Amino acid sequence: MRKRIIAGNWKMYKKAEEARSFMKELVDTVPASENVETVICPPSLYLYELAEMTKSSTVGIGAQTMHEAKEGAFTGEISPKMLTDIGVGYVILGHSERRQYFNETDEAVNRKVHAAFEYGLTPIVCVGETLEEREAGKTVDIVATQVKKAFEGIADSLAPTAVIAYEPIWAIGTGKTATAENANEVCGAIRNTISELYGKDVADALRIQYGGSVKPANIDELLSMEHIDGALVGGASLEAASFLKLIEAG
Ligand code: 13P
Repeated sequence: MRKRIIAGNWKMYKKAEEARSFMKELVDTVPASENVETVICPPSLYLYELAEMTKSSTVGIGAQTMHEAKEGAFTGEISPKMLTDIGVGYVILGHSERRQYFNETDEAVNRKVHAAFEYGLTPIVCVGETLEEREAGKTVDIVATQVKKAFEGIADSLAPTAVIAYEPIWAIGTGKTATAENANEVCGAIRNTISELYGKDVADALRIQYGGSVKPANIDELLSMEHIDGALVGGASLEAASFLKLIEAG
């Protein structure tokens, strides 16, 4: 039985005080559940403070991106070593916005997945197709290739501890959600790809999230699907009340 994982990706939103009060509410109310893992990925500026606030709670903290090097002359970047040092446990890698606006390639994502594991971070590896690719019937090919490249050289022992987030690009921030059946189909194809690479046991253990306009109104149906083990949530993770509903659904 895979433990569900509901993660909020705040992207570039919230002032410090808003981040603080959201986290206070979350820490005070989130139940210590056996069934669901909760993660908040705030802007990097707030990672330290939120990691401190969540130290003795079950809420995990994730970065939205990172550099692959331990340290170095990389102005503006943060490293995996810094993240683990301050108590961050997760990192989103290869988000479509990073791929689209910051030139993050499959090769860079792969280097970052290696670096995340090296420093004990759980990578949340994002894959997904554009509308054009979907309409051309290329969805499964695209996501399978992204998964294969992201996991190149990753050991069998580490692979099942990664999380993959299937986020169709056309469903992000648009209010359009893939139908639950459709999202499940693609998540199933991702699981097959992992099975081809690592075998059935690893594929059965690895968790796959769906992301793209997830909200309280559609979470139940999405989570009822065989291959969907959680959600990576943008907009609906910004309000504590709606995010708490998503956790409850988990
Ligand atoms: P929305 O939930 O706002 O569509 O964003 C999804 C996303 O990109 C999460 O990483």
